[in-house]
Amino acid sequence: MSFKDILGKPVAVKTLRNTLASGRLSGTYLFSGPAGVGKRFMARTLAKVLNCEKMQEDACEECFSCRKIEAGNHPDLLWIEPAEKSTSISIESIRFLKKDLALKPWEGRRRVVVLIEAERATEEAQNAFLKMLEETPESTLIILTSVKTEGILPTVLSRCKQVRFEGLASMDIQEFLKKRGASAEEAAVLSRLAHGSLGKALSMKEENFLEKRLDVFNHFLDRAYHIDEERDFFSEKEKVGPALDLLTSWYRDLWVVKEGGKEELLLHEDRFADLEKESGHWSTDALFEALSELLLAQDHLEHHVNLKILLSLLARRVKALRG
Ligand SMILES: [Zn+2]
Repeated sequence: MSFKDILGKPVAVKTLRNTLASGRLSGTYLFSGPAGVGKRFMARTLAKVLNCEKMQEDACEECFSCRKIEAGNHPDLLWIEPAEKSTSISIESIRFLKKDLALKPWEGRRRVVVLIEAERATEEAQNAFLKMLEETPESTLIILTSVKTEGILPTVLSRCKQVRFEGLASMDIQEFLKKRGASAEEAAVLSRLAHGSLGKALSMKEENFLEKRLDVFNHFLDRAYHIDEERDFFSEKEKVGPALDLLTSWYRDLWVVKEGGKEELLLHEDRFADLEKESGHWSTDALFEALSELLLAQDHLEHHVNLKILLSLLARRVKALRG
């Protein structure tokens, strides 16, 4: 995948391509923006272009270097990321990197180091990283990616040139999903619910989201708001979050219908008939309350709660709001 494969024509990509073409690429970048909008993809593409044997404006995708990067085994493209979802980047991984940086690139012209989710590096690790930034040789390009830049030390931030990545257009995501074999219906629904994140859309596709949606809706909505925690999507904390997101999007849509909003504003446009029917049972105030209950439940999920009690209370409260 090269520049030409990048979805839409994001400003971030245009900016970086121009800088690259003019030979004024900085030594350290921070790619900030929501998850799943192409930050990693951009870092990989840059590494390809900087090392491509054909030395053109875009990666050729054919040379030895491009193919090695694509396959993830080029020794001059280094990714540093948290080992798991819940862990941080430790000082050890930064120290390890330092040794490598003291040497010339192994095979390519430019070594590229990508620190994924830099805000998740410990303060100690960030300080070590800062030291490294100060001594970075010219043959190295450092890229930090971040979803929440507030977690990055100001001293580190001040050393980086920041490039902001915005969410992708829903239409672009829709087209991409269709090319990946999604049906028109699936592509339309997922692209709306992904809120600009291709990564999110793709993982929803992988999880057979439409089926899951049907299951959650049928289960919670059609059966008088009864929550059966034996059901897969209500059985563990990790799955409850996405199920609650889904319900939140449903009540959000009900609100849109209630307020007379246009059909194309709906996230579940394909369920318009059901939404219209259901909206008869709701006042705007009650919908507001239901949405607050759902957000509150999401909040409680972050803490150690008894899942069964949380879900039963939620179901009872939402049911009481429905007329
Ligand atoms: Zn190439």
